Amino acid sequence: METKGYAALEARKPLESFSFKRRDLRDTDVALDISFSGICHSDIHQAREEWGPAIFPMVPGHEIAGIVTQIGPKVTKFKVGDRIGVGVFIDSCRTCENCKKGNQQYCLKGMTGTYNEYERDGKTVALGGYSNKFVIDQDYAVHIPANLDLAGVAPLLCAGITLYSPLKNWGAGPGKKVGVMGLGGLGHMGVKFAAALGAEVTVFSHSSAKEVDAKRMGAKHFVVTSTPGSLEPLAESFDLILNTVSAELDINEYLKLLKTDGTLVVIGLPGKPYAVEAGSLLRLRRSLAGSMIGGIPQMQEMLDFCGEHNILSDVEVINADYINKAYDRTVASDVKYRFVIDASSF
Ligand code: NAP
Ligand code: ZN
Ligand code: ZN
Repeated sequence: METKGYAALEARKPLESFSFKRRDLRDTDVALDISFSGICHSDIHQAREEWGPAIFPMVPGHEIAGIVTQIGPKVTKFKVGDRIGVGVFIDSCRTCENCKKGNQQYCLKGMTGTYNEYERDGKTVALGGYSNKFVIDQDYAVHIPANLDLAGVAPLLCAGITLYSPLKNWGAGPGKKVGVMGLGGLGHMGVKFAAALGAEVTVFSHSSAKEVDAKRMGAKHFVVTSTPGSLEPLAESFDLILNTVSAELDINEYLKLLKTDGTLVVIGLPGKPYAVEAGSLLRLRRSLAGSMIGGIPQMQEMLDFCGEHNILSDVEVINADYINKAYDRTVASDVKYRFVIDASSF
């Protein structure tokens, strides 16, 4: 299947127009026309090799929303014309304990990422969502509720599920104080979900201009972290803090904000290790945890929740020729709050 997209041909080079072929449909595959594809900060980290050596040419993109155009002979989950979403992985071993529980993102043999990975045959390079067509096994795609705008849905496939999963896992809800560090693509979805679940939400941001937006999304409090002394009055007051910041920071300052038995969940992946002071964990029996996207059943649950509560990502829709500019603006925290590529522009 002839496909048009955008690729990084090598690390730290601007992305450019790139044509390639997708595979013919296997028995349980579905083909889709991509409508919109989100730009996640993880795309930038990988295209720029900030997480170590990567596979080039790289077609990034793992926030994919589109319409089914063809189905393989054994497909039962989708029909032509369905609205379909694809996220951060396209396959996994299907047999390990975690896959069987629907936690494919924690596959014990390693999930297969949507791009910058070899598929399970060990030789085919996976090419991602900055493209106009896609082919995927039905088990690794989800249904998009009919009432949701596809541009605002695309970021839910990574940013959305990545925040929904820890909020559910650590029981965010009424009576719980939740902090969200960084109001970017991930963070803004965290605010919307935590508020919809009934928690009291505080945003920690280094961008003072984002306060009005944070409150509109459901935050009760907004803390400008670049103001000296802004964190001290909040010591020992949070049940859960989600760190979505893509840059390095002093994690101890935030651990101290947790109540007894509170948890700080690491979600951002800056590429350099955090330095954790033992004292900030031992005191008040605090936990430092991590969380990575979510499995297929939880992705479907999250999208259904968005359908019921009318939750979408705030997006800036762009054409393909703006991708490189969008990367620079994302790194500068200058996006409200996710760039989404209109796939008809490839
Ligand atoms: P993003 O849209 O760029 O948002 C990151 C936010 O971090 C920015 O909006 C900014 O928020 C804050 N920030 C950026 N630079 C900063 C600095 N120098 N100092 C302090 N704060 C800074 O990125 P994203 O797409 O949400 O992704 C966030 C991170 O999560 C990335 O590292 C990404 O790779 C990772 N990620 C992890 C998972 C997972 O499964 N765990 C999934 C997807 C992405 P303010 O302006 O509000 O301060
Ligand atoms: Zn992502
Ligand atoms: Zn597995």
